[in-house]
Amino acid sequence: MLNLGGASLHEMRTFLKELSIKTSGRVEFRDITREVEEAVRESGIKSGVAIIFTPHTTTGIFMNEDEGGLKRDLERILEKLIPEKGGYMHDEVDYNAYAHLRSIILGASLAVPVEGGRLMLGTWQSIFLAEFDGPRSRRVYVRVMGSD
Ligand code: ZN
Repeated sequence: MLNLGGASLHEMRTFLKELSIKTSGRVEFRDITREVEEAVRESGIKSGVAIIFTPHTTTGIFMNEDEGGLKRDLERILEKLIPEKGGYMHDEVDYNAYAHLRSIILGASLAVPVEGGRLMLGTWQSIFLAEFDGPRSRRVYVRVMGSD
């Protein structure tokens, strides 16, 4: 029998959920793992992948440990690499160039494998929305693709 390399026993499905996240700081790292896990549960998909995507140009999505000291370290290293006041050209248009630049560095999406109906995160891995121009109401899309 020809093996096309895909799972053909179970039909592939997709599910999309929009999360609405209200950030409370100008710069904030918000753990959204619980909301993403809830979306995966709602999808009913057991085996596949979840894509977590933010459609804004001054936020980012990243994964790491939810530990207070580490979050402060990240804030400090980003401030060192991309300070708020940097004589940026975009600041002549809209005073938030640092927020766009940090967003570019972190990226806008992540893909996480789903197995047994759960995100395959490591023990210390959490999913974060990074806010760089808050406080605002932000959207995060969770697209789950896979089979039952
Ligand atoms: Zn801008």
